[in-house]
Amino acid sequence: MSADILSNQYDDVRPRQAIGPRQAIGLDVGGTKIAGAVITEHGDITDPLTVPTPTDSTSGVLHALLGLISQLRHRNPAVEALGVGAAGLVEWPRGYIRWAPNNSYRDLPLRELLAEETGLPVIVDNDANAATWAEARLGLGTTYDNIAFLTVGTGVGGGLLLDGQLYRGHSGLAAELGHLIVNPGGERCGCGNRGCLEAMASGTALERLGRAAVTAHPTSQLAQLAGGNPNNVTGHHILDATRSADPVARSLFDEIGYWLGVGIASLANIFELELVVIGGGLIETGDLLLRPATASLESFAFATTHRPVPSIRPGTFGSTAGVVGAAHLALTQSIHPIADQSALPGCSLTP
Ligand SMILES: [Zn+2]
Repeated sequence: MSADILSNQYDDVRPRQAIGPRQAIGLDVGGTKIAGAVITEHGDITDPLTVPTPTDSTSGVLHALLGLISQLRHRNPAVEALGVGAAGLVEWPRGYIRWAPNNSYRDLPLRELLAEETGLPVIVDNDANAATWAEARLGLGTTYDNIAFLTVGTGVGGGLLLDGQLYRGHSGLAAELGHLIVNPGGERCGCGNRGCLEAMASGTALERLGRAAVTAHPTSQLAQLAGGNPNNVTGHHILDATRSADPVARSLFDEIGYWLGVGIASLANIFELELVVIGGGLIETGDLLLRPATASLESFAFATTHRPVPSIRPGTFGSTAGVVGAAHLALTQSIHPIADQSALPGCSLTP
């Protein structure tokens, strides 16, 4: 359902001209930082704030979240809901965080705690789901109902919009697109498996390939930038060498783009996707990544003469997608009835 339908319902009871668009706080909890802002129902961002993610304890993370919320509410008293996108395994609709590999929190009933502390309607979802929602309902995907979103950074995350709704699986833990196996027996993934998309097509994979390239091509520009030492190679070295048209550095993008396209082809074959949106730090390289990914998708997609191949496009919101999507989910979740309303006491936004 679109934001227009939401605003029409809203206009039935409150005159829009007098109070402006609806607003919610969006928070994006990552392994290193917590980003927050106030988001309108149209996806406009105001009052962005960022703090480091406390790494010592769960209570430290909660304290930081409540501090951000307090600041944002004080300056923006019209906010009417709170949405959190959190890294890790997050149950939906409970907003219960089971585990996150890069955060200190474990078994945390975050939605319930934040609702008690703030009195606001709250949703807590996986960060990639929140970002998917932003790109699908406020970004490039607003005219499509079947979209895959992949965030390609240090790791690979993702989400699926199927038939116009986020696909969450049985308890909210679905769509771990980074752990789609694209190369059985390939590189070791952080999850313990081999050949996951994350192991083959992430920033981590790029640096691994960069180290091998420095050894294999000691006179390349990449090797010079790294001082001839494979262990010195960083993503910045690879990007700098690529900008200088170093063919060795460019070939690294050909390889991770290839694997990205392999994964996207499987997703497209299964779900008949209309659009694939790419976010995350590596998308800043644009066609360096997208061109080989598109070629690989077209090579592996099923029956391309009889059904279209989805286009692969960079996202609209960049690093703010999680914040925007979390807030927009908070504003719209009562419009999209969830499986277990009893799990969300006081959470209905319906007037
Ligand atoms: Zn994996």
